[in-house]
Amino acid sequence: MTVLDGASLAKRVRSNVQDAVRELQEVHGIMPRLDALLAGEDPASRVYVRKKREDCDEVGIDSHLHTFPDTVTQQDLRSQIETLNQTEACDGILVQLPLPEGLDEGRILEAVDPTKDADGFHPGNLGRLLSDRAGLTPATPTGILHLLEAYDVPLEGKHAVIVGRSNIVGKPLAALFLQRGVDATVTIAHSRTRPLEDVTRQADVLVVAAGKRDLVTADMVQEGAVVVDVGINRDPDGNLTGDVAYDEVLDVAGAITPVPGGVGPLTRAMLLVNVLRACCARRGVPVPDALLDVVPASLQG
Ligand code: NAP
Repeated sequence: MTVLDGASLAKRVRSNVQDAVRELQEVHGIMPRLDALLAGEDPASRVYVRKKREDCDEVGIDSHLHTFPDTVTQQDLRSQIETLNQTEACDGILVQLPLPEGLDEGRILEAVDPTKDADGFHPGNLGRLLSDRAGLTPATPTGILHLLEAYDVPLEGKHAVIVGRSNIVGKPLAALFLQRGVDATVTIAHSRTRPLEDVTRQADVLVVAAGKRDLVTADMVQEGAVVVDVGINRDPDGNLTGDVAYDEVLDVAGAITPVPGGVGPLTRAMLLVNVLRACCARRGVPVPDALLDVVPASLQG
């Protein structure tokens, strides 16, 4: 049984990103830059944005924060995004979700220039992914693909079952798994799937992104399956747990990601990768080899 160590892999990704930033500065005089928009007072969102900026500091990406009160209007946010779209020095724009109530998340995300879409959430980028012309792709699914590649987990012809159909995890991951060169057979399950265990038991690779603690138990997993736990929940003691009953599934799975220390760190690291990919594409400079090393092969075309 292998524990898929996302934290160590993320460290390697950050180190490669740091090398790539150095090359961009030394060879091309470019300082990659990320702008984050944070609206409202949600404490978790504040922590997430702070950590993303710390990651930027670590690797040498210039990060800027734009904060707005709960009462921010759709128009205010859109006009800030418009300004950043036009700002030559800005390579990546990130809108921290969730937005305060009353704002139309879809329309805000759509306002971001797709070439600066650090989260890969723009409908244009999601559409490109579905039409075999992937550009910037969402960080969590991209991190999962990188993790599986790094551990040489075979996907070609394998049955990948994804529990969860969100626009940020389940659906883009399905599209990534279906890409030519990855070639998994994909099933997506969701809250109306009945019975869920009949589907999950068919998985060679099982990815769980439901946000329900202990949703997947040992009896729902095929012997030897690779299990990727995306969920982030709190147990009654306040500890972080995933969607998979880790201790019991450990005995059945061939490989498994822990929570914390699995998918989460890779998600953060892949945001940095996206900023650099956006930077190189928009400024017309070659992607440094150090960065290519940490981009899934199917996204390098
Ligand atoms: P989401 O938008 O709430 O989607 C959850 C999905 O799970 C939905 O498709 C839902 O089905 C399905 N689901 C819920 N309960 C289910 C059940 N009992 N059986 C089967 N399917 C069920 O969530 P998300 O944004 O994708 O995030 C999912 C989890 O991953 C959360 O815990 C989130 O915090 C975590 N997350 C972690 C990272 C990371 O970096 N580790 C990144 C992103 C998200 P319906 O569509 O039918 O409602």
